[in-house]
Amino acid sequence: MVVGLEVHVQLRTKAKIFAPEAVTFGERPNSFVSWVSLGYPGTLPVLNRACVEAAIRLALALECEVASEFFFSRKNYFYPDLPKGYQITQEAAPLARHGHILLRLPDGSRHRVGIERIQLEEDTGKSLHDQDPFDTLLDYNRAGIGLVEIVSEPDIRTPQQAMAYLAHIRRLVRFLGISDGNMEEGSLRCDANISVRPLSQKEFGTRVEIKNLNSISALGKALEYEYRRQVSLLEAGQRIERETRTWDGSQTVPLREKETADDYRYFPEPDLPPIRITAEWLAELQASLPELPDKLFDRLISEYGLSVEDAVLLTEDRPYADYFAALTDVGVKPKVAASWINGPIRAYLNEAAVSMEEFPLPPAQLAKLIQLVEDRRVSLSAAREKIFPYLVQHPTESPEEVAQKMDLFLLQDDGQLEAWIAEVLAENPDKVETYRKGKVGLLGFFVGQVVRRSGGKADPREVQRRLAEKLA
Ligand code: ADP
Ligand code: MG
Repeated sequence: MVVGLEVHVQLRTKAKIFAPEAVTFGERPNSFVSWVSLGYPGTLPVLNRACVEAAIRLALALECEVASEFFFSRKNYFYPDLPKGYQITQEAAPLARHGHILLRLPDGSRHRVGIERIQLEEDTGKSLHDQDPFDTLLDYNRAGIGLVEIVSEPDIRTPQQAMAYLAHIRRLVRFLGISDGNMEEGSLRCDANISVRPLSQKEFGTRVEIKNLNSISALGKALEYEYRRQVSLLEAGQRIERETRTWDGSQTVPLREKETADDYRYFPEPDLPPIRITAEWLAELQASLPELPDKLFDRLISEYGLSVEDAVLLTEDRPYADYFAALTDVGVKPKVAASWINGPIRAYLNEAAVSMEEFPLPPAQLAKLIQLVEDRRVSLSAAREKIFPYLVQHPTESPEEVAQKMDLFLLQDDGQLEAWIAEVLAENPDKVETYRKGKVGLLGFFVGQVVRRSGGKADPREVQRRLAEKLA
């Protein structure tokens, strides 16, 4: 299998790339359109600097060579979602070239995928085929939103690598804050080019392009399907046709014959001057990059000693990394911070079906609760199971007062604790003997007895420590 991906990232800038109206999603159709986006005669595009900067930052994060000068081209074709009759895109002089991604695969191995080029262009309007029984309706709110197209080299060899590549780009655009990367809403879109060849063959086979892959798993399934289809055609002695197909959820079906570049009559956009990128501007943008997820991943392991599993989870999305940083900034130990985020917080998010961005409890509040545990004033289980769920619902209340109100402060009276331990041991002489003969599993039984006697006020860790000492 040989695969190259074309990924489109919709830029979350305030305004569109060549027109002043806002970038929106899910608003009333055609309420964010200007004469420019509708292609009225006499209107002229004005380039939005923020789109260029977002694209350059992404290019830098993908280790590309950024051009010192680039220009736009017109790609001419007729379709109702494109009222101008041409798309402003790039062809001969793309913004950036020759980058790469070093994929981290689920089995721990790495795989390098080259980036052929990165270009800036405008989005089209949206055809709505399912709103009216007879007609296709058009919504131009999307027309003219800035897009970055990332074209990979044909370096991908398995569906797993393709999925990891797409997940990598989604994570990256979110870390950079240039797009929400939401595939369901179309802010991240992917077309896959796939061909097959016998293992012994050097030259690539004829490629087929698959469109409408609207999730990472759809990409994996479509490649698997298309690979089998192409292999069985070749094995039956037939040829692969160069064509564009679409994924319908269970198979790839023909969409159209592939157009060639000649059909589009590309030529340089006369309404926009070439753009020069100075070394100072580039350096400024380079300096504005946040710590990228791969670098953070390595640092979480080497500097903080976190496990690979914890590091994977914390770098999965920007809000997790930000929350982790906020906790450690106020002094929470990295391992403790990771265990809270990847434990109770994730469990809560799953259950409540909300994203980390919407998690209501501010890190400073959680840090106070964690401090109560560190100071042995409440037990870890009380903090996780009782105080934490309450605080999530009442995020402004003080963790200390909540612990007080719920009567969860641990007993600080040593004498009382010693007395309960003595009682439990005195009441169970046979079990004490069995324990001393080697049945150390009984320790849990003794701890349970003491904690019960305390009405849950004794710190189980402390009780266990003392019991182990006494029974030794
Ligand atoms: P087009 O204009 O036809 O879409 P692009 O240059 O935009 O062409 O994209 C071509 C994509 O197809 C790239 O991602 C490239 O890596 C990939 N590709 C090129 N040749 C092959 C091949 N033989 N098999 C699979 N993918 C290929
Ligand atoms: Mg293309």
